[in-house]
Amino acid sequence: MQPTVAVVGAGPTGLMAAEAAAGAGAEVTIIDQRRSFGRTLLLAGRSGLNLTHAEPLEVFLGRYGDGRAMLEPAIRAFPPDAVRAWAGGLGADTFVGSSGRVFPAAMRATGLLRAWTARLAGLGVAMRTGETWAGFTDDGATVLALGGASWPSVGGDGSWLAHVETAGIPVVPFAASNAGVLVAWSAPLLERFEGVPIKNAALTAGGRTVRGEPTITATGLEGGPIYALGPELRSGHGLEIDLQPDLDADALAARLVDRRRTKDSVSTWLRKGGLSPVDVALLRDATGNRLPTEATAIAGLAKAVPIPVDGLAPIDRAISTAGGIALDAIDDTGMLLDRPGTWVAGEMVAWDAPTGGYLIQACLSTGHRAGVAAARWAAEHP
Ligand SMILES: Cc1cc2nc3c(=O)[nH]c(=O)nc-3n(C[C@H](O)[C@H](O)[C@H](O)COP(=O)(O)OP(=O)(O)OC[C@H]3O[C@@H](n4cnc5c(N)ncnc54)[C@H](O)[C@@H]3O)c2cc1C
Repeated sequence: MQPTVAVVGAGPTGLMAAEAAAGAGAEVTIIDQRRSFGRTLLLAGRSGLNLTHAEPLEVFLGRYGDGRAMLEPAIRAFPPDAVRAWAGGLGADTFVGSSGRVFPAAMRATGLLRAWTARLAGLGVAMRTGETWAGFTDDGATVLALGGASWPSVGGDGSWLAHVETAGIPVVPFAASNAGVLVAWSAPLLERFEGVPIKNAALTAGGRTVRGEPTITATGLEGGPIYALGPELRSGHGLEIDLQPDLDADALAARLVDRRRTKDSVSTWLRKGGLSPVDVALLRDATGNRLPTEATAIAGLAKAVPIPVDGLAPIDRAISTAGGIALDAIDDTGMLLDRPGTWVAGEMVAWDAPTGGYLIQACLSTGHRAGVAAARWAAEHP
């Protein structure tokens, strides 16, 4: 008799688990609570589907922090190159962007998802929508790939966590990850600079510094460097922005002194000194519009503008969530130690990663590992 595997959740993790289990000889059914599959993936594709990253594998693996030990074997078994080959096999050839991020040529997920579900149909995978998992059953080999708790309107809503907790499985509470921070900007700053990036900045929180271009939003700051400092910001560390990271404070002060002309307004003077209009607005906000007039004081401030962060943006608008099934609740294939025959994979497990393709890569790799392991287990437990 052919072994059977049930997959619940049809995001990138579950779809890959279904493909891997079917490829390993299992008869596979995949269900999702939504009316269609891969909706988070489609949403991700709207801003450019960053599938993985082209940096050396050792550097890549270092991005996962505490989750690395659990993820490393899965990523080594199904690494970034395998993801690129797999996408190419679905007609979505990839390219490496200037930052090393890997995207399908079409940038979006639509074509890839269509080809993927067609491939699954060809492998005989039964695909059902509108079915919700509401707790553990003893239905044989099962891969749960229920996602995190952000963007509940498209993907997972995290309601599975209560069922898992009830069953006594150790969990870590959800927290927003790769989320913006909340800042109560002044009305004048917002009026002119909402949507504007702070170019060539260095952001520091909790002793860690990240270079990049955060963007000013109506409610605070968004973008790569903010997401990268997520762990520090989540722990309540303050945020400072260095507006001139390539100059030290003395060099900046000297440049300001050099460019000072008596007829210039303070803003004109600072702009001649290399600060952009948005930089000047940030300095004004930070000082309650009482900018120091002395070059050394301005330079010191521009090197460490304090940003009054009121916390992280709400979880439902985060790119991903930290938390979920505790890492010590699973074995080295992702199977729940307390429920042999049930695997968990993808974002529902409590690893965390920055943006840059690391999220989807880890989802695909752990989905692949779980699918293969579930097919093998099903064959051994007819
Ligand atoms: C705006 C945005 C942009 C992003 N861009 C990128 C990017 O460019 N690169 C990157 O690496 N990552 C990106 N991400 C993150 C990435 O999309 C997610 O990490 C990834 O989709 C998680 O995959 P998953 O399969 O684990 O979960 P999901 O994709 O969320 O899929 C989980 C599925 O499970 C289903 N489900 C949940 N609960 C149940 C239940 N009880 N019963 C049945 N079905 C259920 C859901 O309906 C959903 O279809 C982005 C995320 C967002 C929101």
